Amino acid sequence: MSVAVALDGPAGAGKSTIAKRAAKALDFIYVDTGALYRTIGLAASRNNIEPIPSAEVDDLLSNITVDLTFNENGEQIVLLDGEDVSGLIRTPKASMMASKISAVPSVRAYLLDLQRNIAKSHNIIMDGRDIGTVVLPDAKVKIFLTASPEARAQRRFKELCQKGMDVKYEDILSDVITRDYNDSHRETAPLKPADGCVMVDTTELDFEQSVEKILSVIKENI
Ligand code: C5P
Repeated sequence: MSVAVALDGPAGAGKSTIAKRAAKALDFIYVDTGALYRTIGLAASRNNIEPIPSAEVDDLLSNITVDLTFNENGEQIVLLDGEDVSGLIRTPKASMMASKISAVPSVRAYLLDLQRNIAKSHNIIMDGRDIGTVVLPDAKVKIFLTASPEARAQRRFKELCQKGMDVKYEDILSDVITRDYNDSHRETAPLKPADGCVMVDTTELDFEQSVEKILSVIKENI
């Protein structure tokens, strides 16, 4: 039987970079579920669906296909109607669209089976907001990874600057705070620690220390 690690937490806590490295060390597949919400957000932008929620979102869902696949290095590729959009979904605008559209119950229902099916066939670390609470409540290991909003904004700011994007720290911080609020106050599957999860705060930890901490929690629990 495959092993699932549910890794939840707020935007910018370092879930994806930490989980990628930990998955490699364990020879597990890393699944970034935020990419799925970003992809539906991108589809909504392309179809000029705004504001959200809107009745048009349900029509959109019946007219698109979203799929996850993995390349030869085990890296995730997300497909919108067969097009690889993995790069296009990494902009601040896509983050905000994802945050808004992820509050729509039909969007969450649409992505549920896709996420559960991946967990059936692979050993995975799956990162998101509701993996331990809703998607994989029986996951062998559940971790809630967090850090202060300032530490998270600083990390995301550095990451976007390194990619050559022209962004301001204050804007990123305000996005982080808005997304935290949206994620933890929505009615469907709000962001909250799952029962029985291990809390890990990375505010004072550097990247290597965070990876070590996550690996030790996983090894102790599988
Ligand atoms: O993880 P990432 O920041 O890429 O996720 C983008 C947005 O998708 C989040 O702000 C959150 O609103 C939403 N999301 C979610 N549930 C998940 C993963 C992401 O609601 N499992």
